[in-house]
Amino acid sequence: MITKREVKPILHRQKCKNCNFYTVHRVIPAGEKAVDTCTHCQHAVEIPWDHEIKASFKNKEKFFKNLEELYPELRDLKNPGDHISLD
Ligand SMILES: [Zn+2]
Repeated sequence: MITKREVKPILHRQKCKNCNFYTVHRVIPAGEKAVDTCTHCQHAVEIPWDHEIKASFKNKEKFFKNLEELYPELRDLKNPGDHISLD
């Protein structure tokens, strides 16, 4: 019997290349690929889903934790659709 491990969508913060806001992105892994979607403008990109990219998400969260010191409003990026501009 093959049991597929369910992978939950991951929410993460990122500057969107399309709308140029800092937004909440949603990653939906599907096998070896994942779709990363900006929850503000719905811009979606396909990314490879491997150990490297998972590590890079952890690093990105650290990066945002540090950035929160400078821009406390980043703490408000929590829910799909949230977006802020830091410029
Ligand atoms: Zn966007």
